[in-house]
Amino acid sequence: MTEIHTDGPESIGDVQPLDFLVVAPHPDDAEIGMGGTIAKMIRQGMRVGILDLTSGEPTPHGSETIRRAETIRATEILNLTWRGNAGLVNRELQHTLEARKRIASYFRMLRPRWVFAPYFHDAHPDHVVATELIEAARFWSKLSKTDMPGERFHPERTFYFFCIHLRLAVQPSWIVDISETMDQKLESIRAYESQFVVGRPTEPPTMLDRIETDGAYFGNLIARRYGEPFATKEPLALTSLRDVF
Ligand SMILES: [Zn+2]
Repeated sequence: MTEIHTDGPESIGDVQPLDFLVVAPHPDDAEIGMGGTIAKMIRQGMRVGILDLTSGEPTPHGSETIRRAETIRATEILNLTWRGNAGLVNRELQHTLEARKRIASYFRMLRPRWVFAPYFHDAHPDHVVATELIEAARFWSKLSKTDMPGERFHPERTFYFFCIHLRLAVQPSWIVDISETMDQKLESIRAYESQFVVGRPTEPPTMLDRIETDGAYFGNLIARRYGEPFATKEPLALTSLRDVF
């Protein structure tokens, strides 16, 4: 049985460090923004976690119980290494020192090499605040002489995924070919039935049609069937040009 860790960062215990942790304001943002890349990297042997900051509820057709069950289903579809919920309040996400400390504590306990945050331009206040919180928490997680749990730790990079409530023609820093995991991505999004199926228009383009069209658009930019865009503020470092196409 898949478990969503909800007991706070102090109780995480000894886990092998993650390759990367995706931090999402609401359960379903990580799947929409980068479900294909998550699935692909897990297939390639990486250890990948998602930390949802809030329950994402209330919503018109969801409830805490329904959304939790849907999150478990999506977690199983992606075959995630770890998933947790930070228990911050949906719709009321604020950049408090307490919230910053909580997220930094997750970084110290999970020790992800990279952290993925929502893209910094968005209309949803929770998303904008989440990104600020994650950037500040990344810095705080390396502090010494603090009462935060775990050892001081600094994730090497913060990257940005796109799950935005703005119609932007974004210019990504790079695009991952997700042709082989697009089906898995769509299935993980479909798991959130209360968000994307119940009460939604059934005439095309449905919400899922639009996500597929976006995937095809970014795939087209790299001459592949499907792609997922990412951004970075710092230059991307490569050990080899071999994987660039
Ligand atoms: Zn969201």
